Amino acid sequence: MNGTTPAPFTADDHRDRMARAVRQAAEAGLAGLLVAPGPDLTWLTGYTPTAETERLTLLVLAPGRDPVLVVPTLEAPDAERAPGAPALTLRDWTDGKDPYAATADLLDPAGRYGISDNTWALHLLGLQSALPGTSYASVTEALPMLRAVKDPAELALLAAAGAAADAAFEEIRTVPFAGRRESDVAADLAALLLRYGHSRVDFTIVAAGPNGADPHHEAGDRVIAHGDMVVLDFGGLKDGYGSDTSRTVHVGEPTDEERRVHDLVRAAQEAGFRAVRPGAACQDVDRAARAVIADAGHGEHFIHRTGHGIGVTTHEPPYMVEGEEQPLVPGMCFSVEPGVYLPGRFGVRIEDIVAVTGDGGRRLNNTPRDMVIVD
Ligand code: ZN
Ligand code: ZN
Ligand code: ZN
Repeated sequence: MNGTTPAPFTADDHRDRMARAVRQAAEAGLAGLLVAPGPDLTWLTGYTPTAETERLTLLVLAPGRDPVLVVPTLEAPDAERAPGAPALTLRDWTDGKDPYAATADLLDPAGRYGISDNTWALHLLGLQSALPGTSYASVTEALPMLRAVKDPAELALLAAAGAAADAAFEEIRTVPFAGRRESDVAADLAALLLRYGHSRVDFTIVAAGPNGADPHHEAGDRVIAHGDMVVLDFGGLKDGYGSDTSRTVHVGEPTDEERRVHDLVRAAQEAGFRAVRPGAACQDVDRAARAVIADAGHGEHFIHRTGHGIGVTTHEPPYMVEGEEQPLVPGMCFSVEPGVYLPGRFGVRIEDIVAVTGDGGRRLNNTPRDMVIVD
């Protein structure tokens, strides 16, 4: 992806998002928000610089003043074409000038600012030295729900990304698995995601046999064998919004135990999904899924949180994890992905993206959740 995002958002959409961000920042006791290139800037302004360079690009949002985007002069024409550009003022700075001095008068010299997590340390240090009285908090820590509630157009894009990932699964289940390397199947999956409209593939996990017991295993040289369980977990961005789904398939007929573990994870995933409704806490989704697995005696084999938010990135708040009391709100969108991992043997994970609706949840992934047998 480069230049502007293809998402169909108008200057008014971006004006609303920036106004919401300023409001939330003020409520959090911040003097404003400073946003460098990355997902927050893309979401707020529609601007995604072609390349992230050492030259400072920074959106300054503060109550009572219009949004200002500080940009290098040579990148200003690109920024002017961003969908959100009409909703902000551009301030360019030229090589040889001090970009932090060019930004300093926009800031309260004693203010505490939220700053986007992926801002380069170089830039934060530059701001701190230009304005030693300022202080900073991570936007993700201070405003974790900034991008969490999606509007109908965003939900439609997430649903389309989910449908594209589902189409990739429906096709990958028909290819030969036995005798090929994990990395071969992963390459097939990446090609399918692109063919079904993704612009970027973020991950294609293909974890066969004992590799499936390691949730972080990506894909390697292991030759997939008859009798292997294979965890597939893949996703990326389509039209600026994310997909992320997991299915666990089996090469040939599974054993009774493999079937039992798969059924257990499926029941846990269903319980997590059923816990999704407005007003429930994020941790309730985790608890519902985890209880099913713990009751079956596999509690210690479910070694990660149940889910994470998704939007203009494939992993973001809110997190479905014990201790997260954030209530669910219609429009939030996140994964429900319990797993059971038996070290040295096999693993099972089943993952759908779920959107919170007025009275429950809606799955954005709809491929079979019973165990698919592959060749
Ligand atoms: Zn097997
Ligand atoms: Zn996943
Ligand atoms: Zn996920």
